[in-house]
Amino acid sequence: MATSDAQPTALTGIGVSPGLVAGPVARMAPGIPEPAIETLPAGTDLDAECDRIAAAAQTVKKSLELSAAEAKGDGRTLLETTAQMAADPTLTTSAQAKVRERHLVPARAVWEAAGTLADMLKSLGGYMAERTRDVADVRDRIIAVLTDSPMPGIPRLPEPFVLVAKDLAPADTALLNPEKVVAFITSEGGPTSHTAILARALGMPAIVGTGEQVTDRLSDGDIVLVDGTKGSITLNPSEEALRRARELASRVRVFNGDGATRDGHEVQLLANVGDAAGARSAAEAGAMGVGLFRTEFCFLDQPEEPTIEAQVEAYRGVLEAFPGKKVVVRTLDAGADKPLPFLTDSTEANPALGVRAYRTARRDPEVLEHQLQALAKAEAVTSAKVWVMAPMISTADEAKAFTDQARAHGLKIAGMMIEVPSAALMADKMFEHADFASIGTNDLTQYVMAADRLLSSLAYLSTGWQPAVLRLIKAACDGAAPHGRPVGVCGEAAADPALAVVLVGLGVASLSMTARALPDVDAVLKSVDLADCRRLAQIAIDSRTAEDARAAVRAELPVLEELGL
Ligand code: PEP
Ligand code: MG
Repeated sequence: MATSDAQPTALTGIGVSPGLVAGPVARMAPGIPEPAIETLPAGTDLDAECDRIAAAAQTVKKSLELSAAEAKGDGRTLLETTAQMAADPTLTTSAQAKVRERHLVPARAVWEAAGTLADMLKSLGGYMAERTRDVADVRDRIIAVLTDSPMPGIPRLPEPFVLVAKDLAPADTALLNPEKVVAFITSEGGPTSHTAILARALGMPAIVGTGEQVTDRLSDGDIVLVDGTKGSITLNPSEEALRRARELASRVRVFNGDGATRDGHEVQLLANVGDAAGARSAAEAGAMGVGLFRTEFCFLDQPEEPTIEAQVEAYRGVLEAFPGKKVVVRTLDAGADKPLPFLTDSTEANPALGVRAYRTARRDPEVLEHQLQALAKAEAVTSAKVWVMAPMISTADEAKAFTDQARAHGLKIAGMMIEVPSAALMADKMFEHADFASIGTNDLTQYVMAADRLLSSLAYLSTGWQPAVLRLIKAACDGAAPHGRPVGVCGEAAADPALAVVLVGLGVASLSMTARALPDVDAVLKSVDLADCRRLAQIAIDSRTAEDARAAVRAELPVLEELGL
């Protein structure tokens, strides 16, 4: 990789997915601005202008089909659907009519035709309403061809690159190909947004929330070194820094499915998964089981409640990947940044504090009933050990109601997530009902710090290193101990190798994370004894601030530097 003579420049953001890589910058083209209402000069050949629209739509369709052929999984489906929209004559004929009747310039005609089509789809609701995103995407692409502007979306380049963007929509993230995009940097976005979670799942170093003053300094082709652990970006890095990045990238660590501290205290290292494919790759990565199956991820794009049969199929696929092993299945966690059209109310003023997650069961009890039925059926046909839990349990009554209901369906091990501070504080009462708990540190942090997990401007508050969060985790473990119940962590905190040591010291029995993080967490845990974990946990909860806690614990773990973590 060529470096320039320019001096290295250090820039910072919020590191949300670890790893050290270097590459040339490719900026994501901004969206297409609304074209002005302009008419064609008198005497223009209207047929030729109409042909330009049809030809531009064809070009877009072909390029989307090409990208779809190269993509995998969700990305491929997404691109195929968008290509179909580009091939649909509704948009082009309506735009051509506007050229013929009102003599609008083609770009404006396409913009207006797309607006009408989107309104029509929106009024149909459900699945059709969700296609408005594809209409906007196709519209922008056709206009880009017509006006000879850069194509919006993720750039397509022959060589691997570091993607720089304002923010990535979930649809963009689904298209990220780790062979092409080696890292991404966004000026917006928070540390526990689902985009950040996806980056970790892809094992792609990522830095978010840099602010525009940082992304504006990065131009196409600039060489940058991205450290996703530290949240640092080096523009024009030195040869020495590039050499170290290459050396670290060449060291491949594996996890052998034997999570434990150096002195043999077992810590179950489990995987967070969202579907059968994810479960299979987690099993290949050595995960000792699943600590969080986000069932809502199977149905995010569905306008209607999935049938029991469809649910059995979806759950069975995940359970089959872990024969004889523990699979913790979370009931639908709908709401806030994961709306499910059939379960959540999009008009609430404060969706993160609203009728979301387990709370939806009061209003739509049959949806939870159906899910538990489907889960029991899926368990019956596989050998995995199902542990079921509900998200956002807030009171002991909710813990009792949910666990009673799950057991009535024959699901023997029933527990809860601890994501609301009240659940951690009332843990002793919760464990009179719950067989186990898993702490969702993403939401627990959001609620105890009163900081929206999606906001980059509040990232300094949104970290599991906050001593207040750690004290609540300790309260949860202390409440479980007299009952002999296990407490796990399945939020992003579990994937931070240094924080994992603290969590084990606080009494956490299992850590569930994106499968990519398993080798790092395992390597660091194997470098310490349980007594070290307890000592470091005490240091962390006695710290004044999150930064102090992190710095003090990291200073005691020299292995982090050796491993480039
Ligand atoms: C959490 O809140 O920590 C959690 C694991 O759930 P999710 O990130 O899906 O909200
Ligand atoms: Mg949560």
